[in-house]
Amino acid sequence: MDMDTMDKYEILKKYFGYDSFREAQEALIDSILEGRDTLGIMPTGAGKSLCYQIPALLMDGITLVISPLISLMKDQVGSLNQAGIHAAFLNSSLTMNQYYKALSFARQGRYPIIYVAPERLVTEEFLDFALNSRIVMVAVDEAHCVSQWGQDFRPSYLKILEFVEKLPKRPIISAFTATATKEVRDDILDILQLQNPTVLTTGFDRNNLYFAVKTVKDRYKAVRDYLSQHKGESGIIYCLTRKHVEEVCERLMKEGFSVNRYHAGLSDEERRKNQDDFIYDRVQVICATSAFGMGIDKSNVRFVLHYGMPKNIESYYQEAGRAGRDGEPAECILYYAGQDVITNQYFIDYNQDNQELDELTRRFVMEKDQERLKKMTFYCFTNECLRDYILRYFGEYGANYCNKCSNCLTQFETVDVTGAARAILGCVESSRQRYGTTVIIDTLHGANTAKIRSYRMNENPYYGKLAKEPVYRLRKILQHLQVEEYLLVTNDEYAIVKLTVKSREILLENKEVKMKMAKEQEGEKAFGKKDKQGDKWGSKTGDKRSGSSKNMQRAAGIFGDSFGEEEENLFTKLRNLRTEIAREEKVPPYIVFSDKTLTHMCLLKPKTKEEMLKVSGVGEFKFEKYGERFLACIQSI
Ligand code: ADP
Ligand code: MG
Repeated sequence: MDMDTMDKYEILKKYFGYDSFREAQEALIDSILEGRDTLGIMPTGAGKSLCYQIPALLMDGITLVISPLISLMKDQVGSLNQAGIHAAFLNSSLTMNQYYKALSFARQGRYPIIYVAPERLVTEEFLDFALNSRIVMVAVDEAHCVSQWGQDFRPSYLKILEFVEKLPKRPIISAFTATATKEVRDDILDILQLQNPTVLTTGFDRNNLYFAVKTVKDRYKAVRDYLSQHKGESGIIYCLTRKHVEEVCERLMKEGFSVNRYHAGLSDEERRKNQDDFIYDRVQVICATSAFGMGIDKSNVRFVLHYGMPKNIESYYQEAGRAGRDGEPAECILYYAGQDVITNQYFIDYNQDNQELDELTRRFVMEKDQERLKKMTFYCFTNECLRDYILRYFGEYGANYCNKCSNCLTQFETVDVTGAARAILGCVESSRQRYGTTVIIDTLHGANTAKIRSYRMNENPYYGKLAKEPVYRLRKILQHLQVEEYLLVTNDEYAIVKLTVKSREILLENKEVKMKMAKEQEGEKAFGKKDKQGDKWGSKTGDKRSGSSKNMQRAAGIFGDSFGEEEENLFTKLRNLRTEIAREEKVPPYIVFSDKTLTHMCLLKPKTKEEMLKVSGVGEFKFEKYGERFLACIQSI
């Protein structure tokens, strides 16, 4: 087939198997094809790769793609090869012989797309190739790596410009990232010296993700129960510390779950093995610290659980965002506990990266981190739409009701808590802002404990004033007062409650305080509440079918069709066939076909080649390779 005579739509269909472009993809592709430098800022899973891959195939010459990680390059080149596109990568994972062989093929012009590690760019061999070839575009993936403001600064990314300047003819530069902050964006434009670029930012909403925050008594149990209900689905459990990773992973293993661990304290070898097992679906769940994830393009991650609150919303959204890259429904649940704030504060106080900074900068960075931690904490406290909270954080205005997060799915009522608020602040003031949240709440509740007596809080004028309010409600009100900044709680183990400048509005100016409180339902315990609500989304409660079928019911929802038992059985069969092929081809299963593609097959049940090509994600080339086998499988039911 001759690519020169094809247009972007034909390439999209023929090679990638998709019918239409997603938001912004087409505009970015057109910009590149017009010969303009281009910066695309799109959330994870939005489909940035296609934005440079399709122009690369349409332009006359070679596109170099700069990518920070070997695993990312492998994944992408694997996907391209599977789709029938010649592409190669040049990085340190190749042996000397492989490297020279690839380079000589490259010289012959066999690859329209070459992935290259940034540190390779200015090496002698590579330059020799580049100076004697027609490089039409340099596409910088994960472009935030050029910025020291970003979380993943890579000094080798600074070599990109040096390389470009050596070329006889300046290629188009395109850059892509999911990091939306202004500092990072400006750095990318500056450091890569984009000329009169098209800059496009798409919305950051990931509408296939369900968000939830849960405060549970036993986090381990909550996570375990979740896994039991989602057997057969792939997911990540993020923990704050290595110790938690070890503990959670070990307990889950003992209980027979298919799970591996991942953190920076393990050997390179174990990390690589555990990561591969996860990517190739040999292990369903990975339990990891934040060290895991960069370079993971696994598209069928169905859930990301946080066993503990991360340090800021940026990290949270990045980690949670690894769920549902295929656009299928996926869940992001954060299990919060008060202890998390202290752990994160500790990380801020002892941040190694900061030790090298001068005193003034260090203080500045710490203050910023502190502020970000506060915003993260408030995410766990808020009763408003969680999605909206995140989008606002990134400077976007979403609808304030998404109907797909634990808050939107909880029934709230607005209650007047002025009396309770006044009592809480009064108690804090009268005890001279010396005590932590527990003492304050116990005092108001009228607890008769040794601690209360030893602090003589039983003599405090507010002792027992709110005895009728359940403790969890008092905690909710206190959190609300924190979010509204009527008081603050210190981030140390004492969690001391302090007044703020705004406190006087309540204490002296009789300001009314109203808040949203989850409606009590008959016979429901305070803690069970949110768990139940979460299940409303997607699957019916009381569903006894396996996790994968649950998942499929949701998926079917997207296609606006029903997923019955027949489809479920077929899905399982197709998935097994996919695993078999993945083994033969030595690629991860999702590279053969995504979950979405299999789901679509179950619904369409194609009988002919023509029908099969209508399935989203089935391109001509993939059909030639395995189309018949999938058709046979569908026929067999
Ligand atoms: P990003 O780099 O932005 O995180 P990717 O380029 O890895 O995202 O794409 C995420 C997923 O979306 C991939 O499985 C890809 O095949 C799929 N995808 C991309 N564009 C489209 C499209 N136009 N229609 C359907 N699926 C798409
Ligand atoms: Mg990407």
